[in-house]
Amino acid sequence: MKEKIQPSSLNGRSQFIDTPLKLPTPPAIAMKILDTLLKTNFSSEDLAHLIEIDPALTIRILGYANSPFYLAANRNAGSVRRAIDVLGINAVRNIALSFSIVDALWDRGTGGFDYDSFWKESVIRASAASIFAAFTPCVPEDAFIVALLADVGKVLMFMARPDDYLTVQREVRGTGARDCDVERRMFTYDHQDIGSETLRSWGMPESIYQPVACHHSGSCKKENYADLRDVIQLADLTSKIYVSQASAQYMQRLCGLIKDKYSVNADDAYRIVDEVAPHAANILNSLDMPASQVRPYSALLQRANERLSDLHLEYDHLLRKFEEEKARAEMLERELREANERLIELVATDNLTGLRNSRYFHAQIQSEMLRAQRYAHKMALVMIDIDDFKRVNDTHGHLVGDMVLKSVAGLILGESRSGDTVARYGGEEFAVVLPETDLQHAAAFAERVRKTIEMVTVSIDKLKISVTVSLGVCVFDPAAHRLGKDDFIKAADKALYSSKKTGKNRLSIASY
Ligand code: GH3
Ligand code: MG
Ligand code: MG
Repeated sequence: MKEKIQPSSLNGRSQFIDTPLKLPTPPAIAMKILDTLLKTNFSSEDLAHLIEIDPALTIRILGYANSPFYLAANRNAGSVRRAIDVLGINAVRNIALSFSIVDALWDRGTGGFDYDSFWKESVIRASAASIFAAFTPCVPEDAFIVALLADVGKVLMFMARPDDYLTVQREVRGTGARDCDVERRMFTYDHQDIGSETLRSWGMPESIYQPVACHHSGSCKKENYADLRDVIQLADLTSKIYVSQASAQYMQRLCGLIKDKYSVNADDAYRIVDEVAPHAANILNSLDMPASQVRPYSALLQRANERLSDLHLEYDHLLRKFEEEKARAEMLERELREANERLIELVATDNLTGLRNSRYFHAQIQSEMLRAQRYAHKMALVMIDIDDFKRVNDTHGHLVGDMVLKSVAGLILGESRSGDTVARYGGEEFAVVLPETDLQHAAAFAERVRKTIEMVTVSIDKLKISVTVSLGVCVFDPAAHRLGKDDFIKAADKALYSSKKTGKNRLSIASY
């Protein structure tokens, strides 16, 4: 049977007229407690008996009364009777009512509303509130109950209009808007209004339902609830430390607030927040929720730090592996580059003399001519041919001929500069490319080569062989003539031929 809240019972909040909300009737056990307490001559025995016939409720009352928080205050109780003695008949009555409400409004099924998280957060908030109450004149049990039931209106709104309330929750999560504002827009009232009114109609005292009505707002209708409202707000912040991802930020805010309000330093703030965990765990346990779900904040921090250092280790490991792989890749690249260089060397080298071969020479003279054009430099080409080499072969054999070729190659190389290209052009003919060189310097080079070879005697075993060379010198001046590579080589060759024709062992200068 569902009870409809009448507009008249809402202290003039006429917005309920437009959208009547069906609310559940008070839980049966709560009704019984209320009925008993309405009898004029009820005793604490009657209340104890009423609670004890409900084993679940008994466990909850003892769970509350035996929380480490009360053990520390030496107020623990082993039985419901003792709890009534220690906490007082009104406190136990209200706690019993609260737990029967929690039970009635905890749908263990699904439906889109996360009841488990909701009540877990409420229990943590309630435990924190009873601890913060010690800094104020507030009664810890009242603070506990108000904080526990502060948001009960949310469950009631969801039960009445599930889809609309899920929309509210999505909007709050998505935009960070205040839940009261979104609720009011969607329902015309908020969870404070509906929660407070329901608790009133279910027989909760004014000291509970009034603070529920204003636990978010800055000003309470009755100023004597201001302390309690502050306690609830601090407790709310504490529950966020336990359930939110951004716990460090909430912790920082809480530290600032309780330092201002109660002159509590940061160390004590951490200790207080830690105390909340076993208190809440005890109560959650009595509500059939594993206590392991609430671990002290310091334990959460430690776990976070461990995970962070695990991540650091993992990162270090990855970094080391990355550097190993990088070094391996660099080594492979270096090896590849060296192998390529060796290959290029091989492809560009003449086997017998070790000089550049004609393939390389042709590529090189082309690029040097382009460079000369670009920078307006002169460059020279000297063609060199051993005189009467056939006779050397004929007289001493091909092997000796090879050795003479090698030593002539070495002598030419010895006269050249590092930027010059000395190549075996073919047979017993050599070509030297001289970048940035004019006629005067090219002729001087050619003459040095001629003289050196003429003077040197090659010793092979007991043989002493000397040869001479003829040379053709040609200079390319990009400012003076436009010339292709083949014409350039042809011109140098022509000069060489002219040296041969005019008696060998001499050099000739090409004329265009
Ligand atoms: P010239 O003064 O007119 O240049 O007379 P030459 O004998 O040097 O010229 P010719 O072109 O008649 O002969 C070149 C000789 O060079 C013939 C060839 O056997 C020899 N020759 C060419 N390449 C090699 C080589 O790699 N090794 C040896 N041993 N001889 C070679
Ligand atoms: Mg020759
Ligand atoms: Mg020849």
